[in-house]
Amino acid sequence: MRGDPRRAEAHVRHVARLLGDHQSRSNCADAVDYVVAQFDKTVLAATEGGFACRRGCAHCCQLQVTVTAAEAFHIAGILRRTPGRAAAFLEAESATRGLSAGERLRARIPCPLLHNSECTIYEARPLSCRGAVSRDVDACVAAYVNFQQVDTQAPADRTLVLNIWRMILSIAMRVLNFPVAGYEMNHAVAVALATEDSERKWLNGEDVFASVARDPSTAPQYIQTVERLAMDLAPTV
Ligand code: SF4
Repeated sequence: MRGDPRRAEAHVRHVARLLGDHQSRSNCADAVDYVVAQFDKTVLAATEGGFACRRGCAHCCQLQVTVTAAEAFHIAGILRRTPGRAAAFLEAESATRGLSAGERLRARIPCPLLHNSECTIYEARPLSCRGAVSRDVDACVAAYVNFQQVDTQAPADRTLVLNIWRMILSIAMRVLNFPVAGYEMNHAVAVALATEDSERKWLNGEDVFASVARDPSTAPQYIQTVERLAMDLAPTV
């Protein structure tokens, strides 16, 4: 994909069509499922194995997670499918509301989607979590348990592939005039769960995430690039 921008453009068009399909009852789930399936496929081809990550290892699952609006609706849809799950999430979510990323880590509050050290939405976990892998568990312990300033040994190739797919999703959303924004996951999912029609309202242009903290680390250059590419591609979608 790095060598042929037309392939990336084709993915953007496809994701935008999934998001804008008026016949679909699960636009965000369809779009996110497509993106994460493509990410998983691409990253396998691009990244060497040898990760330290193992089932039941969840040191990184107390970090603040950033999601796109589409991912928040996708997770909310999964939680709604099992009775009691949404209510349990909302109860746990209140513990992290309003905390900064640093406060959240120091408070050692696990992700509300973690149970017995396993992600309860593993197959549908956000792109940010898919990118949080390490070649060295000791580095994870040093960083996330002992709060030391160390490199957690994330493979650069995987981060690059992750950023490409995150940008494809962001451009597709921008083509449809949604803001380029990453939201704090817990609050965003709570907002998505607030009413049955929250996704429909968002698809119709209502900024239902106005009260949710945006990721301040999103670089202005990233936003400008997404804006420019979305403008270029919009007439072809
Ligand atoms: S969504 Fe899953 S992988 Fe991501 S932080 Fe929560 S429990 Fe961990």
